[in-house]
Amino acid sequence: MSERGQLLYILAPSYSGSTLLTYLLAQHDAIATVGELKATRMGDIDAYRCSCGELIRECEFWSRLTQRATDEGLDFSLDEFGTVYGNGTGFVNKVVRALVRGPLFETARSALLKLLPDSMTGVRAVTRQNLALSKIVCDLQNGSIFLDGSKDSARLLHYLQSGEWDIKVIYLQRDGRGVTNSYVKHDGVDYDGAIDYWRRAVTELQRMRGRLDDNRVYDLLYEDLCREPEQKLAEICRWLNIDELDHAATFSAESQHVLGNSMRLNNVSEIRFDEAWRKKLTPQNLRDFEERAGALNQSLGYKAA
Ligand SMILES: [Zn+2]
Repeated sequence: MSERGQLLYILAPSYSGSTLLTYLLAQHDAIATVGELKATRMGDIDAYRCSCGELIRECEFWSRLTQRATDEGLDFSLDEFGTVYGNGTGFVNKVVRALVRGPLFETARSALLKLLPDSMTGVRAVTRQNLALSKIVCDLQNGSIFLDGSKDSARLLHYLQSGEWDIKVIYLQRDGRGVTNSYVKHDGVDYDGAIDYWRRAVTELQRMRGRLDDNRVYDLLYEDLCREPEQKLAEICRWLNIDELDHAATFSAESQHVLGNSMRLNNVSEIRFDEAWRKKLTPQNLRDFEERAGALNQSLGYKAA
């Protein structure tokens, strides 16, 4: 047994099903989670609802967590989790939070972060905060594996470099036509912009994936999870060396305290396989996607339309 805490990280683009996966895995007794520990998409905290349905300021779980964090001397509040790497202005913070790039940049980043005092980068302090909170969540939920559904690559990179956890990663992808359709729908970008955004996101996630040992990674497609949830979740449990779930494909968001985007409050308690892109994208959209992102999408395992 390793003395380090076990951390399960979801590495994925936005709108790829990470919240659904979080809900499904959170049902397991061994898994403790609050969804996205980076907590960057809360908006107005006074109006923010926990997935349990309560305003977060009135949620009993979050109030116990805040109390524990305060008792342990952490600088933590619902307004400021203190869990984001490079959450400031200036060049150093930009380097800290930059998406994962090629080896040249990563060698330079790693050298720079070793050179600079932690008071300038904040990396070790943010790691300590994430570590302390992950232990409190595991304690409160009585789980041994902490699941962070934060998705982004730079955060995973800092976790790995800290050496503080025994880390496993679920690398989750979804058909780029589905993701781009969601970007247009929810983020107000045009379809060209959505294709650019998706290509950049997947390219940098692939770089991060390339840095990971295969035995630490479970590769998962959103579509496979929706088509055969019981089977996929059983596989994930075996890979994590934990008992398989009963009734794996059903879940109750209300019994969990999960953070993330506001969409997590919709579609709760059942798997809704979202393939709206098949109807929403125009033939021109599909041609544009094929031309600019088709090869990348096919490399993830998706067939051209
Ligand atoms: Zn709650």
